[in-house]
Amino acid sequence: MVKEFPLIIIGGGPAGLTAGIYAGRSQLKTLIIAEQPGGTIGYAHRVQNFPGFPEIGGLELANRMVEHLQKWPVELLIARVGQIIKKDDGFLVTTDQNQEYRAEVLLLALGTEKRKLGLPNEDRFLGRGLSYCALCDGQFFKNKTVAVGGGGDAAVTMALYLAEMTNKVFLISLQPELNCSPSWHQAVKNQKKIELICDNQVTELIGSENLSGIRLKNPYQQQTELPIDGLFVEIGSAPSTTLTEPLNLATDSEGFIKIKANGRTSQSGIWAAGDLTSGSNKLRQAITAAAEGAMAADDIYRYFKQKG
Ligand SMILES: Cc1cc2nc3c(=O)[nH]c(=O)nc-3n(C[C@H](O)[C@H](O)[C@H](O)COP(=O)(O)OP(=O)(O)OC[C@H]3O[C@@H](n4cnc5c(N)ncnc54)[C@H](O)[C@@H]3O)c2cc1C
Repeated sequence: MVKEFPLIIIGGGPAGLTAGIYAGRSQLKTLIIAEQPGGTIGYAHRVQNFPGFPEIGGLELANRMVEHLQKWPVELLIARVGQIIKKDDGFLVTTDQNQEYRAEVLLLALGTEKRKLGLPNEDRFLGRGLSYCALCDGQFFKNKTVAVGGGGDAAVTMALYLAEMTNKVFLISLQPELNCSPSWHQAVKNQKKIELICDNQVTELIGSENLSGIRLKNPYQQQTELPIDGLFVEIGSAPSTTLTEPLNLATDSEGFIKIKANGRTSQSGIWAAGDLTSGSNKLRQAITAAAEGAMAADDIYRYFKQKG
């Protein structure tokens, strides 16, 4: 028999977990389905901007959020959702293992997926010198030379983390200067192992079996080829549309789901929160994702209360 819930939250990062905590406190029977409970913040080396935690490891913060959720009577299913079908009386949600659940309303908190460089051989070198996650793969590059592609907060913290274990980190930014918060700017300056290459771009991945170098758009120290052992890519993220496209939700030009201040999307019965929305001024941080999750859950509670 298909299990039914008034509310199913898809995604268990800061947005989904906060929404779950609020739903639990409102005694709304809720199921959270998340492939990776804790979400993307678990990849952050250090987090310095979540109130109450002056400095905390991303994974520890993620785990604490999951533990906090578990204090409330909310079901958490660790699974990947493969399909959402709109029915007359709600939604049918199917996981990759063909488990089916029915929801009266949905809250989408799926986060985003990493942007790729879009270069030939990118998929071939994945796991062979190319990575999108320093916390997952950094240890494989102890005492080696690596490069990080990107210039925002996430790329800079990635470079700082990698500098702790590698011999050298080239930080390659497309912009004429780093686009990170001033405190990270100073940290990069203080870290002698980081060599900053601005106004430049990786245009080719070089290597046979494993990645052995990259080609740059503009010469750096008279060279366009840079020998490296590993390349870490952190050039932003975009929402994945595979799951949400059939729902015909209004999105902005970059594919982020448009929401009202209360988290409602353009389709009735569907709310969205966190990094996948066009809300929160697109700051895309754990705190804004959590805030959107809280507001959406509160509005969903009011919706059911009004319905009676
Ligand atoms: C390296 C790095 C460092 C960062 N550092 C900071 C920082 O210092 N401070 C800060 O505030 N923010 C930081 N961020 C940003 C922060 O991680 C995100 O803004 C935040 O996690 C967004 O929360 P979310 O809940 O919207 O999405 P996410 O955290 O991305 O969670 C998405 C959830 O959806 C699930 N999901 C996706 N697809 C499916 C599916 N088909 N089926 C089931 N589940 C699915 C995922 O498994 C996950 O549980 C950092 C990000 C990165 C990558």
